[in-house]
Amino acid sequence: MDQASHDPTRHGTLERWLTGPRIPALPAPRDMAPPKLSFEFFPPKSATMEANLWECIRRLEPLAPRFVSVTYGAGGTTRSRTHATVSRIVAETSLTPAAHLTTVGATREEVHEVAREYWAAGVRHIVALRGDPPVGAAQYAPHPGGYAQAEDLVRGLRGVADFDITVGAYPETHPTAVSPEADLDFLKRKIDAGATRAITQYFFDTDIYLRFIERCHKAGITVPIVPGILPVTNFAQVVKFSAMCGASVPEWMGHLFEGIDDDAETRKMVAAMVAAEQVRLLQANGVDEFHIYTLNRSDLAYAVAHLLGARPRPAA
Ligand SMILES: Cc1cc2nc3c(=O)[nH]c(=O)nc-3n(C[C@H](O)[C@H](O)[C@H](O)COP(=O)(O)OP(=O)(O)OC[C@H]3O[C@@H](n4cnc5c(N)ncnc54)[C@H](O)[C@@H]3O)c2cc1C
Repeated sequence: MDQASHDPTRHGTLERWLTGPRIPALPAPRDMAPPKLSFEFFPPKSATMEANLWECIRRLEPLAPRFVSVTYGAGGTTRSRTHATVSRIVAETSLTPAAHLTTVGATREEVHEVAREYWAAGVRHIVALRGDPPVGAAQYAPHPGGYAQAEDLVRGLRGVADFDITVGAYPETHPTAVSPEADLDFLKRKIDAGATRAITQYFFDTDIYLRFIERCHKAGITVPIVPGILPVTNFAQVVKFSAMCGASVPEWMGHLFEGIDDDAETRKMVAAMVAAEQVRLLQANGVDEFHIYTLNRSDLAYAVAHLLGARPRPAA
């Protein structure tokens, strides 16, 4: 018996190597197709933000995402800005847009009118959501003449035109849900009402999504449940937001961002690696499409997509 076999550290390492999990590392193998990606933007509030958004759209456009979506402000506050952004995407880019549309603060007829305007502008994909209450309002209250929840909106949109409809899903359960089972039932009803895909709230631990998918399958939900991936650069802000939307922030994440509060460059690099690694882990489990919450930051979204193997489409 040699000296090394008595070394507990070495034995531990060997043990881990032989029996630990096998996770394919970055970079992706050259012959592996990049995952299908979609990107989410929010409508700009000022001329500067608009210039920034368009720089972001132009940078990501050559990566030929499946679609790009544009959010609808809390309380339905961005109706015209969302419409203007989506219409410009149709008119000036090769991208396929999806317009977020919520029920908040609007009658059914007003919502139908917005949907008809989208259809007329050439938009065929709607992300249908109940929506969050306006800033300052304690809880959601449906408009007296409006839709009460996303399920009804989906059904209403089906009556307006033949839209491709995506809905929201919550791997860690919506914060106002009565129970995880009731929440899943809401999702199932949205799909049964005519949605063809769900995009998830962001999450950070792969297991959370995989367990959720298993529950979806058991409940008979067969449409794609696309993971929403949030590259994080501002850790403190994400902790605050996550507490409101019911997403958990794992301890390892806090550890990763420790001591780099004043170092934006390093935070960006960490953010890209964490998001890419999260996608790779999900790919290793058979997931092949992802929705990236860009927060209108082109460099970060581009870096994540690049790490995953996406490359600009050659010019026609
Ligand atoms: C991918 C994605 C994109 C989003 N984009 C936007 C956006 O652009 N603009 C915006 O304002 N918000 C957006 N949101 C946030 C979303 O509007 C909120 O999470 C909202 O609180 C719920 O919307 P929903 O469409 O999931 O609602 P629903 O599916 O109607 O409800 C969500 C859950 O709330 C509970 N619930 C709802 N109604 C009832 C009821 N009557 N009784 C009991 N429980 C109930 C259920 O558990 C249900 O599953 C987005 C969320 C996701 C996941």
